[in-house]
Amino acid sequence: MKGVVFRFQIGEYGAEKNKEKESGEMRQLNYLAGYPQQVTSQVNRLIAENRLAGFLNQTYPAAHDIRTDRALYDYAVALKNEFLRSTQPLSRVIYDGKIQVIQNALGCHTFVSRVQGAKLKSKHEIRVASLFRDAPADFLRMIVVHELAHLREKEHNRAFYKLCEYMEPAYQRLEFHLRLYLTHLELTRQSPKQEQKLTPPPSTDPA
Ligand SMILES: [Zn+2]
Repeated sequence: MKGVVFRFQIGEYGAEKNKEKESGEMRQLNYLAGYPQQVTSQVNRLIAENRLAGFLNQTYPAAHDIRTDRALYDYAVALKNEFLRSTQPLSRVIYDGKIQVIQNALGCHTFVSRVQGAKLKSKHEIRVASLFRDAPADFLRMIVVHELAHLREKEHNRAFYKLCEYMEPAYQRLEFHLRLYLTHLELTRQSPKQEQKLTPPPSTDPA
């Protein structure tokens, strides 16, 4: 995992940016709904000054090599064994291309209960939105920590976030920056010419 440099595409955010200049309106930041206006206007400034990609690139240079469902399962089990050993076992952990990443739905967890003979069998499954396959390593860790925390806490309450921070002390910052990353992806998707540059290069880059 070390030595791989994740590169965010740095460039103009296309037509949207100019449109915004004309109207002078603040951009609607879908992934930051509920954040204070002070925060969203700072993010809007980063976007307007074309500095969001550069910021992400600098802060999260490390990619990961967890490409397959098998690797993702092993990764999640290792984290679980480190922090939540006593919780029920994971039956399945997979990347899911069907998860629509909006607001809080970044991953999902399901408990499947089935009656088998006289027994009630329950299975715990974690699905991670497939965009995390190409996301920086820290964001993958954040989302897996999030879904693992649901093994104990079903709701997004105080106890839930405490548990997330126990597993990953920078959890809150990572969740916020993940929202910036999603915003970045959304903005670059609006200018199709730049889209293919979003995946990290296969080679090691010392920059
Ligand atoms: Zn959740």
